Amino acid sequence: MGLTSATIIVITSGKGGVGKTTATANLGPALALRGNRVLIIDTDIGLRNLDVVMGLENRIVYDLVQVLEGTCEAQQAMIRDRIAKNLYLIPAAQTRDKESVTGDQLKELCESLRKDFEYILIDSPAGIEHGFQTAIAPADRAIVITTPEVSAVRDADRVIGLIESSGLPTPDLVLNRVRPALIRHGDMMAKEDILSLLSVNLIGLVPEDETIITSTNRGIPAVHDNRARSGAAFRRIATRIDGEDVPIVDLEQKEGIFSRLKQIVNFRGGISSSG
Ligand code: ADP
Ligand code: MG
Repeated sequence: MGLTSATIIVITSGKGGVGKTTATANLGPALALRGNRVLIIDTDIGLRNLDVVMGLENRIVYDLVQVLEGTCEAQQAMIRDRIAKNLYLIPAAQTRDKESVTGDQLKELCESLRKDFEYILIDSPAGIEHGFQTAIAPADRAIVITTPEVSAVRDADRVIGLIESSGLPTPDLVLNRVRPALIRHGDMMAKEDILSLLSVNLIGLVPEDETIITSTNRGIPAVHDNRARSGAAFRRIATRIDGEDVPIVDLEQKEGIFSRLKQIVNFRGGISSSG
């Protein structure tokens, strides 16, 4: 505990199920492994909460609502990560209504903890209602997660507008579950099209990766798996959050010669069939 002043970052999205919890569970350890003291606050109650994804569900004693109610001190509710030792989680309320938390309460809590951490990450619920407003209230900056689907990008656009009108700086965008093959076949939007629609800074591309599913089941985030492409992507995003400029790896370049040939064949086929 030194003379630090945490940067408070909300991880949010328009559409649900696009990877907010996954991103938070990976960016937390990635930032911590770079030597930062990191606190994650879970403000969502979902099927796979952060405590489950991080493998900490058996260690919960107190939750966020109990901290805000004054039942316990914030430090009593913080669960220390098993792998990254300077990473802590305040879990979401397991049984209580999340409407019972207000933005002012969360902001006050975060302000009181700012001196103890380099980063405070807030995992938010989906949508633009009460829970979203609560989660963004303490934030200095926002990271918006979207998948490349049209509906998710449309909802991201709306949420970016809300973030900017709340006075936060232009959010950073993580494009998650990128599958280059599908983009080529027109089922998903291309990175360039998404970026020309949304006025944001792209901070990273995360590939669709089965490791995410297995790591979630094991309670060990993919960022700890050196072979996982998604883990590597999250480590690079953490480096950028930490202020270091590393280039964004275009996932399409990793597809290899065979799929590139296939793309050329498809392209030729497209020309001849359209006359
Ligand atoms: P949210 O918190 O936005 O609701 P989650 O992080 O819970 O979304 O992710 C929703 C689902 O998508 C989960 O089952 C998760 O394992 C899966 N998922 C997220 N990102 C990826 C990815 N890059 N590759 C594969 N599966 C992913
Ligand atoms: Mg979630």
